[in-house]
Amino acid sequence: MPEVAAPETQYEARLRSEELRSIINYHNRLYYQLDTPEVPDAVYDGFMSELRAIERQYPELITPDSPTQRTGAAPLTTFETVEHRVPLLSLSNCFSEDELAAWHRRASERLENDSFALTTEPKIDGLAISLVYERGRFVQGATRGDGRNGENVTENLRSLGTIPKSLAGTFPPQFEVRGEVYMPKSGFERMNLAISEENLERERAGRKPLPLYANPRNAAAGSVRQKDPSVTASRPLAMFIYQLGWCEGTRPESHHETLEWLRAMGFNVNPETRLHANLPETHERIAWWERERERLDYDIDGVVLKIDATRDWDRLGYVGREPRWATAFKFPPQQRTTKLRQIAVNVGRTGVLTPFAVLEPVVISGATISMATLHNEGDIRRKDIREGDTVIVQRAGEVIPQVVGPVLSLRTGGEHEFAMPEECPSCRTAVSRDPAEAAAYCPNPACPAQAIRMIEHFASRGAMDIEGLGERMAYSLFQSGLVRDVAEIYDLTAEKLMTLPGIKEKGADNLLRGIEASKGRPLVNVLLALGIRHVGWETARLVADHIGTLEGILQVTEEALQEIEGIGPVVAASIVAWAERTQNQDLVRRLVAHGVNPAQERTMARGGLLEGLTIVITGRLDTMSRNDAEDRIRELGGKVGSSVTRGTSYLVVGADAGSKAEKAEKLGTRLVTEDEFLRLIEGGAGGLESASGA
Ligand code: NAD
Repeated sequence: MPEVAAPETQYEARLRSEELRSIINYHNRLYYQLDTPEVPDAVYDGFMSELRAIERQYPELITPDSPTQRTGAAPLTTFETVEHRVPLLSLSNCFSEDELAAWHRRASERLENDSFALTTEPKIDGLAISLVYERGRFVQGATRGDGRNGENVTENLRSLGTIPKSLAGTFPPQFEVRGEVYMPKSGFERMNLAISEENLERERAGRKPLPLYANPRNAAAGSVRQKDPSVTASRPLAMFIYQLGWCEGTRPESHHETLEWLRAMGFNVNPETRLHANLPETHERIAWWERERERLDYDIDGVVLKIDATRDWDRLGYVGREPRWATAFKFPPQQRTTKLRQIAVNVGRTGVLTPFAVLEPVVISGATISMATLHNEGDIRRKDIREGDTVIVQRAGEVIPQVVGPVLSLRTGGEHEFAMPEECPSCRTAVSRDPAEAAAYCPNPACPAQAIRMIEHFASRGAMDIEGLGERMAYSLFQSGLVRDVAEIYDLTAEKLMTLPGIKEKGADNLLRGIEASKGRPLVNVLLALGIRHVGWETARLVADHIGTLEGILQVTEEALQEIEGIGPVVAASIVAWAERTQNQDLVRRLVAHGVNPAQERTMARGGLLEGLTIVITGRLDTMSRNDAEDRIRELGGKVGSSVTRGTSYLVVGADAGSKAEKAEKLGTRLVTEDEFLRLIEGGAGGLESASGA
């Protein structure tokens, strides 16, 4: 993080440092004691960095209670206080390769050696915990607290399957280990979903809703620090051990051997830890983490580098609250704050009005974000997001940026609550409300916004997959009058296309080639492309198997559809209502006349190879993409699961898999390699067994 320049006079510096200390202490309390931070870490890190810069320039302003000299926050009195035998401290941060090189240089100078081995470990975003063992038995677990005193959470930690209660192999008579308790992302989503469902019940009963956790880190910290251990036990928590603390007896001479030793005792040591001969060798691993971190089932906010030889730890010691022998390389933040200029409304292809955020542009992990999703009207109300608010915006990997919530303490009073418009922003038709779904929608079938979205959807990947026909082209085709509904896509010619601004012969030819190719898409894609309400891939597949030809959609009855396993009355009614509309009948006929008449390749031959099996995939596959593998499973009649449950038949474990394998092992689910998976899709379960010699 680039440091802000310190004020020019000592007087100004004193005022600003006092202000910063009070701001930081306020956020420390929210973050460490109440597990409800109000600002993203990047904003907090900015305050810390500014305070550090002032204290570096004016060391006389450093106070012993400055947040730069202390770790975390004092323990809560709800728990018994535990005094740590050896303090649990923090880590210095590096935000660039230059800063990392400077850290390495400082250590090299002290060690008089610049080529030493280092380990890299993912920096798990959870909360630091110390565990004490006596004669191989778990006797005490405590939070870090302010580093010297923590909270005794022993009883709460007993329910964690990843904390051994008694140890295996050889171990010191008394010792402490340190690690991070975290909540897997999948568990976090499930837990918040369960809380939301409970809140619906509560709302009906007129009771106060339970708060949702903002992210897995707060959820982990909040779950560990529950008064009632049974509540902690119900939360999906896990722990990775990353260090041996104090220890009676001898200890290995290197960090990586120590971790191996701890693993042999039964501790859950992160398998992603790597040993590197020198600093340059760590760069590749850090870059790899930056790319791949989204695929893990837990949040990490950086990579921790530790010098491997533990005798160097003693020689280097500590500076303030940070060891000199370790540092955290922090990833660019995925959350930032910015101003919410306006809440605008988008009209979807089915006419549903969806609000979205227009933001003051902000750079998040390298991309400039000026728009973000707000999900829906209910979400805006629940989170109390107002126009003019300073909001937290999040962008993680490929996920669309989203507004997490407002920073309430920065409200000025000039903010406006959002109200859904009374008229469609595209065609000015009065907006209707669907009482069942509480969604506002534009009822006008001729609404231009809906038509444009429909063209875009029709051509999208997974539907007709027409290359070159994206959002902008859909808009320009509609606005020019060339395409008013999706069947007219097939009337396009090179001459017509070249009347559009910026389209030359080559562009026109490419698009026409894409359009031609789309005529051969399987029936399931065509059904999906028609955009019938409630018809997703799974339903489209079932309907395609039933009707066999595109025109078949016009003859289906509700009764026949409901007989298909997996199709209920609402979906059946929606399909039939769609097929009864004259304009849709006309559309289907025109599509068929244009040659869009896919013969049904049975997507799931009944009695398909994988029928009755539920398969979950984790990690990266080498021979095909995850999407292709999932499609293949469905084509063969299998189900694709998103998380491992008792009903999972196989877990396919690809490269760099997350924690799903652990869970599968616990549940006794069969793990299969990519090779075995390939055999499975070739010969079904029988193929797998015969090839594995079982
Ligand atoms: P830190 O989180 O930057 O680093 C130290 C911690 O890293 C250790 O205590 C340990 O818990 C953890 N860690 C994870 N994996 C590790 C591994 N493999 N090896 C060693 N340690 C590992 O420092 P900190 O002092 O705990 O807290 C500062 C962090 O908390 C910053 O990211 C800051 O932004 C955030 N914070 C945010 C707010 C807010 O209001 N948003 C307030 C306070 C602190």
